[in-house]
Amino acid sequence: MSDLTATDLLEVAPRCFVLRYPEWDVSIGVVVGSDGVLVVDTRASSAQGQRLADDVRRVAPGASVRWVVNTHQHFDHTFGNIAFEGARVHAHENAAVGLVSAGDRIKTMIRADPSLDPAYPAITAEVLHEVLATEYRLPDQTFSSAAVIDLGDTYVELAYPGRGHTDGDLVLRVPDADVVFGGDLIEQSAPPSFGTDCYPLEWPGSLDLMIGMLTDASVVVPGHGTPVTRAFVQDQRADVSDVAQLISSLYAQGVPEADALRVGTEESTGWPFPSGGLAEAVRRGYAQLAADAARLGDPLAGRSPARPPAGNPGLPLA
Ligand SMILES: [Zn+2]
Repeated sequence: MSDLTATDLLEVAPRCFVLRYPEWDVSIGVVVGSDGVLVVDTRASSAQGQRLADDVRRVAPGASVRWVVNTHQHFDHTFGNIAFEGARVHAHENAAVGLVSAGDRIKTMIRADPSLDPAYPAITAEVLHEVLATEYRLPDQTFSSAAVIDLGDTYVELAYPGRGHTDGDLVLRVPDADVVFGGDLIEQSAPPSFGTDCYPLEWPGSLDLMIGMLTDASVVVPGHGTPVTRAFVQDQRADVSDVAQLISSLYAQGVPEADALRVGTEESTGWPFPSGGLAEAVRRGYAQLAADAARLGDPLAGRSPARPPAGNPGLPLA
């Protein structure tokens, strides 16, 4: 396997592999069943997807990739879909809806600023060109709450834990192997990524659902980084919860959004992650709290609806 293009190959359980690639430090899953191979996420371009497909052939010689699962809609997990022509692509229904807009967003960002960052030497001009040249391949099959994929002598479960890193994150579990692929709900090599499409206040609850699927022997594969344990997930869940609670507390104290990162840094608990990566968490969290307050008729929100919106019986929203 010396000609593998991945920088790292781990067999995390029998017939369950993780391949790591340097460009965006994506961790790809490979699950081998008697009826074929399932690939978890496909890297950041059609060219990268092609090299991944070549690597999968080296890891599982003679077996064909019949299933692809996208853990969520972001480009570094989906743009390689087009390289897996013979496979059926599965994703959560929200990820399928959001894939094109998420893809267009990253292409627009790259076109607006194609300069290279010396901190990320693997992301070259050619790599960015390959991202821009990628045509989208949307999922063939979606689910809303849970699904099972039968690989012959084993199977995988797909569960929707709720919103968090995006509105389309899924948790993939291989019960026979006690391996869970968590996508970007969990990150090991960097703090969790709070982007323009994150749900910071709901993220902790989604991680609770993932934790409920774990044993103390589970191997959890993050979207970026090396595999971790349930204890790691519980620790990161506590940190993500601290972000949500600090946002809620600052909002309730009336701290303006523009001051929240600074004031939060000065609070006794402080932000559990570098505040430079939390601007969108604050923006999205504040917007959600304001919307909730408006819906519930909180006068602080600046408007008090005379009656509940149509279809809403006026019950408190949990
Ligand atoms: Zn992501």
